Amino acid sequence: MKKKGIYSFLLVILVVFGCVKERETEYSFLLRTVAEIRLSIEEKVFIVNDKKQTLDLVVKFLDESGNELAFGNTLKTEIWINDSLRASPEIDLSEEEIHKIKLVLPTAVEILSNTVDIHVIALENAVDNIQLSLKNHEPVFIKYEDTLDFTAYINVNITDTIGNVHMLDTIQHDFDFFVDGQKINSREIIDFPNGRVTASIAMGGKVSNMLDIEVLDPTSGIKRIDLGLADDTRNFYALAGKTSYNFEYSVWDFEDKEVNLDVFELIVDGISYNRLTNIPIDNPGEIPVQIVAYGTKSNVLTIYSRQDVALQTESIPIIFHIVHNGDQVGSPENRSASVIQNELDRLNAAYDNSHNEQLTKSMNAVNSYIQFELADKDPDGNTLAEQGIHRMQVVTDKFATFGAEANTFMFDNMWDPNRYLNVFVLNVDENFSFAFFPTLFDESMPGVSSTMDENFTLNYYYGIMLNNTHFNSANSVLAHEVGHYLALNHSWVDESNGNCFNSDHANDTQDYVNTPSSLDGDFRYDCENKRFLSTNFMDYNSGNYNSFTYDQRERMHTVYEHALFFPRGSSGGRLARYGKKGKLDPSIKPVRCRH
Ligand SMILES: [Zn+2]
Repeated sequence: MKKKGIYSFLLVILVVFGCVKERETEYSFLLRTVAEIRLSIEEKVFIVNDKKQTLDLVVKFLDESGNELAFGNTLKTEIWINDSLRASPEIDLSEEEIHKIKLVLPTAVEILSNTVDIHVIALENAVDNIQLSLKNHEPVFIKYEDTLDFTAYINVNITDTIGNVHMLDTIQHDFDFFVDGQKINSREIIDFPNGRVTASIAMGGKVSNMLDIEVLDPTSGIKRIDLGLADDTRNFYALAGKTSYNFEYSVWDFEDKEVNLDVFELIVDGISYNRLTNIPIDNPGEIPVQIVAYGTKSNVLTIYSRQDVALQTESIPIIFHIVHNGDQVGSPENRSASVIQNELDRLNAAYDNSHNEQLTKSMNAVNSYIQFELADKDPDGNTLAEQGIHRMQVVTDKFATFGAEANTFMFDNMWDPNRYLNVFVLNVDENFSFAFFPTLFDESMPGVSSTMDENFTLNYYYGIMLNNTHFNSANSVLAHEVGHYLALNHSWVDESNGNCFNSDHANDTQDYVNTPSSLDGDFRYDCENKRFLSTNFMDYNSGNYNSFTYDQRERMHTVYEHALFFPRGSSGGRLARYGKKGKLDPSIKPVRCRH
């Protein structure tokens, strides 16, 4: 056993000796090649702290001609720091010192690198410049009831005498803190004086820049809170149980400057919310809305909430007079029955509030409870070959849109307006469609003429001219024109009128002066220059039409019940009064609609 042990030991010695011999051969070879070791260290200055620092050494081996040898990290060198051999290039940063770093290639003939000095300096001895800035924060600090360490909100960058910039750890390093030039012991905002103050720090005999901040005590520093509606729900009329609102508010300080304050209580109809969006209006009546923050109350908004009602659906027979000069059925001038059916379906969807449902609707969008049915008989009682369609071949190819010829043609050829909603589909020379307003009997309604004269005769074409290009249109032209036929005005004020007012006599549609500057995509700027989302069929230039409102429906149903020369469908209506056709009065004009 003992002998075996000795042999094994000798064997190990031999193997190790062999390896060493081999390595010595490598080193001998390298020795012949390496003439210089060049050491560089990027970061040469460190600030005193309680950590250790591993230096990032960059080593190059050069031959006699100064060419770099591509040995990389395979050549192991000894690391000498302050004349003692170290296992790693780690230095202690706990006190000021200059560490001298060099590398040695451990061979019979030692090759030394250059020496690099690493400085460890106490910050207070190395400060050249202190730069104070706010860390992602508004320059206004609200004094909440809890504590707020101001130093957590600032960045301190120190430039040392060598020119390196250090971000100061505000917790670890000590410095003097000044507010309005007075040294203070607390770093908590809660102890700062109210109002606009300057904050600065000092260390190593240097003073930082002054940071302007505002300290706001919300219990005394808020001047006012303005509450308003968000753009996408800007409408003071609501439908109880159906409408939700988004609100916005702004807080103004004692200097009339807006500040951010995100702790608030929104009170709607006596219910408290800590959010601003998707606030339901459940009850009918005048609903007060207010925001309270730190005891300061905003203005009170009043929302007029109404209960939607279910009405009896009224049906209006409609006839499309398709006017062409010999074009084939299916051509733009001679639309096919399927195109007409599609248009009727779109019209009915618009009037039962199911059109473009995927888009945001008006706060007051309602089912109008008015629908349209294709007429099945002509005025003589003959069944129509195509429901709702009367094709007319004429000599005229194209009509002047607002010319006497078209006006006379439609007046002469309309079917009894007491029985049909007439729609003439014309080839016209401008991109307009139009409709005439009704005349009411025994009822006055703003914006519509009315009469008590039982012998009143119809002296204009009470119907619609639908441009033969306005089918399946994004603007929903037919729904819009039928709106005029039912006494709805455009929802805007005409540019030429100038004054911004409720020109459509519907309180729950927004009012604006229609100029290019008042349009902003699907949004408009209202009479108070506030943005709102346009969704009403009686507007245009938007891509978001899908709504008739509660107040517009009131007008439609007044027309249904009180208009002269109105087709009341199968229900017969409640006004059994059928006027007579008179002589055309060309001075009576339609509402022109450029689409
Ligand atoms: Zn119009």
